[in-house]
Parts: sequence; C-alpha cells; structure tokens
Amino acid sequence: MFTCTGYAAEAADKRLTPFTFERRDPGPTDVAIEILFCGVCHSDLHTARGEWGNSLYPCVPGHEIVGRVTAVGGKVSRFKVGDVAAVGCMVDSCRTCPSCKAGLEQYCDNGFTATYNSEDKKSGGHTFGGYASHIVVDHDFVLKVPTNLDLAAAAPLLCAGITTWSPLRHWKAGPGKKVGIVGLGGLGHMGVKLAHALGAHVVLFTTSPGKIADGKRLGADEVVLSKDEAAMAAHAESFDLIVDAVAADHDINAYLGLVKRDGTLVQVGAPEKPLAVNVFSVIWKRRNFAGSLIGGIAETQEMLDFCGRHGITSDIEMIPIQKIDEAYARMLESDVKYRFVVDMASLKTAA
Ligand code: NAP
Ligand code: ZN
Ligand code: ZN
Repeated sequence: MFTCTGYAAEAADKRLTPFTFERRDPGPTDVAIEILFCGVCHSDLHTARGEWGNSLYPCVPGHEIVGRVTAVGGKVSRFKVGDVAAVGCMVDSCRTCPSCKAGLEQYCDNGFTATYNSEDKKSGGHTFGGYASHIVVDHDFVLKVPTNLDLAAAAPLLCAGITTWSPLRHWKAGPGKKVGIVGLGGLGHMGVKLAHALGAHVVLFTTSPGKIADGKRLGADEVVLSKDEAAMAAHAESFDLIVDAVAADHDINAYLGLVKRDGTLVQVGAPEKPLAVNVFSVIWKRRNFAGSLIGGIAETQEMLDFCGRHGITSDIEMIPIQKIDEAYARMLESDVKYRFVVDMASLKTAA
C-alpha cells in the first residue's frame, strides 16, 4: 500500500476537504498513474452530495483522469513508466459475462467497478476517484491519449466524450440524420462537437440565451432556446435522434414531441427525481425513449482516436482543487464553459 492525497466529501452535506488514503501497490497487471488533470463531471456532484441515494463516504469523486505512468506490473506491455495514460468511469469488470465479452463492460452482468463509489473488489472498502494524487488501475481499463491532443482538454473525453459518443454511434448519427442535443454543459458540448464531426445536422437546445453563439461555434447548425415555444414547435416530429444531457428536472415531453416516427430520444442526463413521461408522447409515432450509460473500453479508445484525428477536445476552465465547491456551485447555475478541469498540481499547494 502507498499513501495518496486527494479531496473528499465526508458526508452529503459536507464540502470537499483534503483527504489522505491508501492505494494498493501495483500488481502484475496494474498501471500506477500520477494524476495530472481530472475533469469535473456533474455525476461527481450528484455523488458527493448523495443525490442518487447510493453514495459511499468518504467520497473522492473524479472519473475524467489523465496522468503519467509511474510504475507498471510485470505483465503490462502496453504502458511503460513516463507514458501518458487515461482512465474513465470504470476500473474493472468481470470480463466473462456476455456484456463484457461484447465490449460493453459498462453493462457488465456482474456489475462493473466504477472508478469511484464502487465496492473495491481488489483492496476492500470502496473505490476512490481522480481528485487525487495517484490511481492504480488494471491495464485493460487504461486508455491511450492521442499525442496531438492537449492533455488537460482531453481529460473530459473520458466521461463527457464517451457518454455522448456511445449513443451517437449506437443510433447512427451521421450524414443525412437530424440530431438534437439538449443542454450545453460538459456532456452537451461534447455531444455537439462529436455529432457535428460525424456529419449529422445538429440542433442544440439550451435554456441559456448567453450560450447561443457558443453553440454555433462548437458545431451546431441551429440553436433553439427551449423556452421559446414557437421555435420548439418549428422542429416538431423532425428528429432522428435527440440526446438529452440535462442534469435537472425538465419537461421531457416537449422533446419527445420533436422526435419523428420510430426516432429515439436517449436520456444520458440523470436528474435526481424521475422524469414525467406522458405515454402519448411515445405511443404517437411509435417513438423510443431510451437511456445510455457511458461506453465500453474499446469504444472509448475508438472515440479518443477519432478525437485525435479530428483535433477534438473539450472547452475547459482550469481550476485548482481548492475551488471545487465553487465549481459545483457554478455547475448548478448552468454556468460552465464547458468543463471544469482540476489541475492536480494544486494538491501540492497549501489549502
Ligand atoms: P453540466 O455540465 O452541469 O451540464 C448540464 C446542463 O444541463 C447545463 O449546463 C444546462 O445547459 C442544462 N440544465 C441544467 N439545469 C437545467 C434545467 N433546470 N432545465 C433545463 N436545462 C438545464 O452536467 P454534465 O456533467 O454535462 O452532466 C449532465 C448529466 O448527465 C448529469 O445528470 C450527469 O450525472 C449525467 N451523466 C450521465 C452519464 C451516463 O452515463 N448516462 C455520464 C455522465 C454524466 P443549458 O444552459 O444549455 O440549458
Ligand atoms: Zn461523468
Ligand atoms: Zn461482465
């Protein structure tokens, strides 16, 4: 075991504060990573504050991790000391169930091990995430970052990137398809960039008038203010796919009505309270209302390589770890442009 420093919430109603804990020494198939950057996902906030009712404390969030390899086990050949390495939302899965065998570790029938807030089957206790100095991860769950990408701006690809990429690919976003993205936050802005790069006609829905120009700059062909009923009505029954990345309660029926026959609205945003779906929103036009969870490991590497080829990263605002609660407060105000990334070097400066 070796000692790590990080930031943790000790309870749902507590701010994040400095926290010291132990990680396992790297085993034969492990990669030890000094964390350079960690993106700040709204799931970190939901979990730190106990909003999904399953939080384990102390809670060290963070699953958009980019760092440098400090040690590798004897059976690791893909990474060596000094390499850049990345870790997303999962650190392990059973490897043997049909989902794992299909490269869909996020749907592991025996439950994958999440980077934080999961039972730690290797070290006991529960897993601690990326708001930390180091992490130790099995090599099968460690990703490669294309060398042309800025490391800090690449970090959000590990969750916001893959979580929007996976449904865009599954429902075949591309040329000739009309794709909506709801909410211009961390996930939404990656959804806009990726759907645009895949060649779809992209329409962004936002509640924030101040984000219209950014939406177009990021790749949206059209931007709709979702509070403008006439602008919403102009898109009725026209979408092949809508990806909803909103983190709070909102009127889902207003978006289902924009989906065309046999089209799909896929929910990736995970609000604390259930969404009220009017059954007629899906009965009419035989619409599909679906969900999607992050993405598999091979799919994550495919997305990173695509981003390398297209020069795609996140638009980020770098913060020291000491400002994490401020960042959460701004997230709740939809005041994110468009992902906070923690510079982990700040762990070494005084709180
Ligand atoms: P975020 O950066 O905070 O963005 C959320 C955006 O939703 C806001 O910027 C805002 O965009 C919009 N929004 C917020 N409150 C709203 C409201 N009351 N009504 C309408 N729109 C509102 O969050 P994120 O990190 O992208 O995460 C989004 C959600 O996805 C979270 O619930 C998170 O837990 C979830 N998530 C799910 C997965 C998965 O695997 N399914 C993975 C990661 C995250 P505008 O200002 O443009 O309206
Ligand atoms: Zn996330
Ligand atoms: Zn499995």
